[in-house]
Amino acid sequence: YFVNPRQWDGDQILVEGDDVHHMTRVMRMRPGDRVVCCDGEGTDLLAVLEDVKGDRVLLRVLERTPSRGEPAVAVTVAQALPKGDKWEWVLQKGTELGAASFLPVLSDRSVVKLDGKKADKKRERWQKIIKEAAEQSHRGCVPPVQPVVDWDGLMQAFSVCDRVIFAYEKGGVPLNQALADGPFQSLMIVVGPEGGFTSEEAEQARTAGALPVSLGPRILRSETAPLALLSCILYSHGE
Ligand code: SAM
Repeated sequence: YFVNPRQWDGDQILVEGDDVHHMTRVMRMRPGDRVVCCDGEGTDLLAVLEDVKGDRVLLRVLERTPSRGEPAVAVTVAQALPKGDKWEWVLQKGTELGAASFLPVLSDRSVVKLDGKKADKKRERWQKIIKEAAEQSHRGCVPPVQPVVDWDGLMQAFSVCDRVIFAYEKGGVPLNQALADGPFQSLMIVVGPEGGFTSEEAEQARTAGALPVSLGPRILRSETAPLALLSCILYSHGE
């Protein structure tokens, strides 16, 4: 469970909201049971459940240890929004694998169109999916999903990473070559929608500093490509 600073008082943690339902009804926890919480900033907290008071649970911290759930490299997954629930699948599985953050993009061939209000509502849901995935996979923090950006917004985001890997099925260097001068502290992977990127987009991305990368001769689905990339990158960086 991720706890936020408002829930703290010395060694006591007051749990409220959905987590109480999960602890008491789903996990059927009782006083004396132990639970591992996380402060969301890289510290795990081993705690004991002391009391259940209506819709609140009181925990006492027994031990603090550095969280082992965070990888050495921070990978941002930038993806042209795919249709249906595929993006939610990427958020969930990407969090399990170790993504540091997610950047939804509207590209030329994106089928999904979102206005501001709808995007905010979706983002709340996306963040909830990520939080649940982070809890179940014992991450040390909850990866943020950033606001949806257009193509220019994506180009601007390139500057905050050591390297931008632009997954391009029409040609690029092999992934192991793109990672050969690592290890990196931060990477961004950019993946296209169902119809792929246009050649203009690929050219603009290259000009903005991205490195076109091929994942081999087989064309992966837009929800498979980021997960394959993440797995390879995290493996190459130790864990
Ligand atoms: N039509 C399928 C679909 O509906 O999912 C395939 C979509 S593929 C064009 C989507 C994106 O995955 C591409 O824009 C690219 O970013 C990435 N991708 C898929 N296969 C790739 C490969 N072999 N090399 C590099 N990138 C790849």
